[in-house]
Order: sequence, then C-alpha cells, then structure tokens
Amino acid sequence: MKNFYHADKNGYYGKFGGAFVPEMLYSNVEELRLKYLKVIQEDSFQKEFNQLLKDYVGRPSPLYFAKRLSKKYQTKIYLKREDLNHTGAHKINNTIGQILMAKRLGKKRIIAETGAGQHGVATATVCALMGMQCVVFMGEIDIARQAPNVARMKMLGATVIPAISGSKTLKDATNEAIRDWINNPEDTFYIIGSVVGPHPYPDMVARFQSVISEEMKKQLKEKEGTENPNYIIACVGGGSNAAGAFYHYLDNEKVKLIAVEAAGKGINSGKSAATSLLGLDGVIHGSRTLLMQTKDGQITEPYSISAGLDYPGVGPQHAHLFKSGRADFLNATDDEAMQAGLELCKLEGIIPAIESAHALAALDKMEFKKDDIIVVNLSGRGDKDLNIYINYFNY
Ligand SMILES: *Cc1c(COP(=O)(O)O)cnc(C)c1O
Repeated sequence: MKNFYHADKNGYYGKFGGAFVPEMLYSNVEELRLKYLKVIQEDSFQKEFNQLLKDYVGRPSPLYFAKRLSKKYQTKIYLKREDLNHTGAHKINNTIGQILMAKRLGKKRIIAETGAGQHGVATATVCALMGMQCVVFMGEIDIARQAPNVARMKMLGATVIPAISGSKTLKDATNEAIRDWINNPEDTFYIIGSVVGPHPYPDMVARFQSVISEEMKKQLKEKEGTENPNYIIACVGGGSNAAGAFYHYLDNEKVKLIAVEAAGKGINSGKSAATSLLGLDGVIHGSRTLLMQTKDGQITEPYSISAGLDYPGVGPQHAHLFKSGRADFLNATDDEAMQAGLELCKLEGIIPAIESAHALAALDKMEFKKDDIIVVNLSGRGDKDLNIYINYFNY
C-alpha cells in the first residue's frame, strides 16, 4: 500500500496521470523525466532551493492560530500563511524549484502559460532573479482583464505574447506555450504553474510545494505537541497548493484532507469549475484526469469568480484522491467564497485571495469538535483581487 497516493515511476496515480504528448515533445519531456529526481536530490540543488525559499520567499511561512475565527466555529483553526510569501501566494515555491531545474539542465530560455497572470508573475520574478529570458503566453481576453499583472510581468522583464485562438483564455495560452516548446526543444524550459501536465510535472510541482506540509508538521508539533491536524483544508484549481499542503500527510489516513473546488454560480448552473463532481475521464494538457467536457469530449469552458480556480481539469493526483476517497471534495459558490473572504477580513484582519476564500467557505459546511485541529491553507493574499471585492461589495 505504501506510495499508493504518490506517482508511480510512469507518473500514474491509480488510473490517472501519465504522459500523453505529441511525438515532437517526447524528447523534452523524456529528458526531464530521466533527470528530475536525481537533480532534486542533489545536495547543491537542495541547498540553493532552501536558501532561496528562506531569504527570497520569506519561508517558513507562519502557522497562525486564528483565535476569533476559531471562536466562531467552536474549534481550533490555524492558517498556513502562504499569503505572506514574496509575490503573494504559494506559486513562487514552484517557480523557484523549476528555474533551478532549468539551470541544471542547461536551458537558457523560459516559457510559461498564465491565466489571470499570477503564475506569469511568479515566473517572470524568478527569471529576473536568475537573469534568464522569459516569454509568457496569455489569452488575449485575460490580457485585457488582468492589466496590472501584465504590467508586472513587463516590469520584471518578461515578454507577454497574446494567445488569439479559441476562447482566448488559459487553455489557449497553454496550447501556444506547448507549440513554442515544440519549436524550441533545445534551449527552452517550460515552467508549468500547477500539478498538471505530462509526467513528471505533477510530481515535480508537488515536491516543490511539499515544503508547505513539511513546515506544517514542525509548526504543529511546536504549538500543539502533535504533527497531525484532524483536517487540512485547501482550495483546488489545478491543485498545487492543496498538493503541497497534503503531501506529507497522504499516507496518514487519520488526517482528513478536504479539497474545495469553485462551484461558481452553482454546481448545476452550467457556470462552475467543480471538476471532480462534474468531470469525466479525459486527457488534457498531457495527462489523464477528470475533466469538464461535453458528451462528445469537447472541453467545457469553466467559470469561477476566482481566476485561479477557473480551470476545466484538475491535477491527476487529485482525480485519484477523489476517486479513492482519500480526500473529501467540497465546493463553494462565488457568493459563499466572497462572504467567507470578508469574514476573515473582519475577524482576523487578513484579506485573503478569493481562491483561498473558497477554502475558508468550507468551514461553514463541516462539523468540528471543540478539540479538533484544523489547518486552512491560505494560498494567497487578496491585493490582486481588490477590484473584484470592490465590485462585489459595492465599496
Ligand atoms: C493560482 C492560485 C490558486 C490555484 O492554483 P492551485 O494550483 O490549485 O493551487 C490558488 N490560490 C491562489 C492564491 C492562486 O494564486
């Protein structure tokens, strides 16, 4: 049973995962597959990665006991403060890991896809840090919607290329990035922003994000005398912050794992991103997973008020956690998330990212005992979402 929830050597989590790539990409993906574990385990890699997480990102991120929130829910709630990281979310953990990987593989040029721009900013940031060329593909519609992040990427030295095909959003940007990678196999490294894509990306990204649960264990031991909470709650778009928060607890079934997806305007409204509930088996962006699609296999356009959760698939590990029952999948509507976000502002003085507010909204849907220990992974801060908060609450 050991390793049941982690990737096997071909990148399968149960029946999900794998590497479904066109022949032209095979050599790029294969090079990474053959080398990634060895590189990650090298002392010099670990040393540079950990140093940057500490001095550049600002880790360890605090595990904060939320006293007033705990009182409201009559239990013990901790917040893992990924919102305090440099650039405002967990995404930087992964981009630091991947740029170090790119350097070790001798790559000179970085490409990335981005939806709302958060992964683009995290990638542009580490490219500036390492003095590497950075090209970010972004849907034309997203470029218009997310002007501040486009400006950030440009200030950081990145070139932003609009994706003008299809719906002109994230999946089209991803297609453009893959096309670029095919045309530049020698010198280019593709930094993917979540636990998605062909093997070894989901496993590699989960390893880089696993620092979240590694710290959580130490911090809980210090504060509660046990490494193990009763529940860990995290929002799921592609699933990287959840994968990091769950990682070191996957084989400990006493710790209940709660993944929260975006229900948008309601599960049955046709406007949501609740992939595990609504999705069917399919292949997207190089791996077999659960995927929102029509009866004849066309990808359904996802919707959420939160740009980071607006993805039609979910990482293959999460598909497996869902199907195997290891994690419980809940969901929160736009309205529930916005109210939960506002509640955290008023009770704790913390303005969360709207993605993270979905995780907070799950508190209202669960029942806790007084002595339960709950960790909510606060994946990011709300500065980037201010306009959405303003429009929603009419400030
Ligand atoms: C991108 C993002 C997410 C969603 O991505 P995952 O890979 O599911 O973690 C969640 N929260 C924040 C703050 C984000 O920026």
